[in-house]
Amino acid sequence: MSGIVNAVQDAAKKLLTENKVDVVIGFAEGSQPLRSTPAFIRKPEEAEKLTWNCTCENNLANYLRKKEQKIGVVVKGCDSRSIVALMKENQINRDNLYIIGVPCSGMIDRKQVADLFEGKEIIAAECKEDSLVLKGHDFEKTVNIADVLHRSCAACTHKNPVIYDEMVTEAVTEQKEDFADIEAFEAKPIAERRAYLAQELSKCIRCYACRNACPMCYCEQCFVDCSTPEWVGKSASDIQDNMLFQAVRVFHGAGRCTDCGACERACPMGIDLRILTRKLVKDAKELFDAEAGVNMEDKPALSTFESDDPQPFLVKE
Ligand code: SF4
Ligand code: SF4
Ligand code: SF4
Repeated sequence: MSGIVNAVQDAAKKLLTENKVDVVIGFAEGSQPLRSTPAFIRKPEEAEKLTWNCTCENNLANYLRKKEQKIGVVVKGCDSRSIVALMKENQINRDNLYIIGVPCSGMIDRKQVADLFEGKEIIAAECKEDSLVLKGHDFEKTVNIADVLHRSCAACTHKNPVIYDEMVTEAVTEQKEDFADIEAFEAKPIAERRAYLAQELSKCIRCYACRNACPMCYCEQCFVDCSTPEWVGKSASDIQDNMLFQAVRVFHGAGRCTDCGACERACPMGIDLRILTRKLVKDAKELFDAEAGVNMEDKPALSTFESDDPQPFLVKE
């Protein structure tokens, strides 16, 4: 792990010293155990603040849209896919970007870690290669990172950045796509699926953290914020409105979602958002043979049209 940290710091220092970028965006240690925070490094001597570990969960593509300055950015596989998807949507200018790629072994899910300690406070944590050392007032425990990976990371099929200017270390092994979780959900009766979603979304407090964390959610005005007309009620007490909000959010991401998990990680209520986002990822693959952000060549699934698309009603002679 320290090898990657050093390599990230060296890359940032070099870019800033040679004036190739105005800022490097990466991660710094957070103020709480198991937390890191996005860091904006503008001077070579500040590069030593940069870190890399199993808590560097934010999708840094969120900070790159419509920027004029030259930016160096530290990216994992999912961040890189969001960057590619955003470049295709003309939101990011590749000429202004220097991509420091980090092959990623996955980020931990803090809720799973907390569950292991049944509410006891964790006062210190150290991420090692494959394990986490956690300390409390009266305990010390080592946990395998593989046992507490976030669901998106456990299923991730693009851990290595798909685009980069330099990679700081060797690529990690990729795994095969597996949609067994979504297939199991699809196999349930409609009423059961609907009841499950209603029960999950009854927990929603409409904080919009899921929307704000998503690099693909960038409309200047979101439909949920409109008051004239008011497309959706503002109160979180109406489950129908919560369901409508998520349905529209998720459909806006159809064929664009990279399954990065940022929305689900941001949700303070622990709502199973991925059952929706990942269903759309699966559908985009099956219906359009499309996977968001994996290369610059593929056309975006839902914003292109071919005359031989299998919907005859779209073609007018
Ligand atoms: S989704 Fe993949 S690339 Fe992104 S943090 Fe998880 S393992 Fe890393
Ligand atoms: S919808 Fe969620 S999983 Fe999909 S790209 Fe946005 S933040 Fe990532
Ligand atoms: S982050 Fe969670 S609680 Fe907040 S709006 Fe999204 S689903 Fe609702």
